Amino acid sequence: MENKNILIHCCCAHCAAYTVKYWQEQGYATTAFWYNPNINPYMEHQNRLEAMKTLSQNMNFELVVADSYDFVEYFRRVVGHEAERCALCFDMRMSKTAETAIELGIGNFTSTLLISHQQKHDLLKEMGENISQTTGVNFMYADLRKRYSDSRCITKPMALYRQQYCGCVYSEWERYTNKTIE
Ligand code: SF4
Repeated sequence: MENKNILIHCCCAHCAAYTVKYWQEQGYATTAFWYNPNINPYMEHQNRLEAMKTLSQNMNFELVVADSYDFVEYFRRVVGHEAERCALCFDMRMSKTAETAIELGIGNFTSTLLISHQQKHDLLKEMGENISQTTGVNFMYADLRKRYSDSRCITKPMALYRQQYCGCVYSEWERYTNKTIE
């Protein structure tokens, strides 16, 4: 029988709102998972986490927060490979999600990153499928990019903290300079 549980890696409250709703509507018991060692500096990470906690309370879904922030490990992996940092970042976050799904006895995983137009969507899909093969946890793919505005409709009345850049310090620099790290 199909396991109708899903662990949803959440990058932020604004991407999570509709994504969680979508999987609930597909009949899945949802658990949200917070693990974002890429978000720097620390207080930016905390602001986004607080917004996520408020969303989970307001929408009444379970949120599991990883017990480690691991930002040092994130930088160890990325420094010297900045141009490929998104692949390393996706791998770190989604691998941890799949590992946590195994610990929690959940058979499926996905990421709210799939609702964002800002992310490398095809790379996310490919990496999710690779991690699924390695771990044995099903990667649940859905292209929700056309529903991001629905997600914002849910979070707007909540007046949650909303970030201005993807997460890492490199993306902050790119956001405010309109330049790209190569
Ligand atoms: S730009 Fe975003 S996805 Fe890419 S490494 Fe930075 S935080 Fe991760």
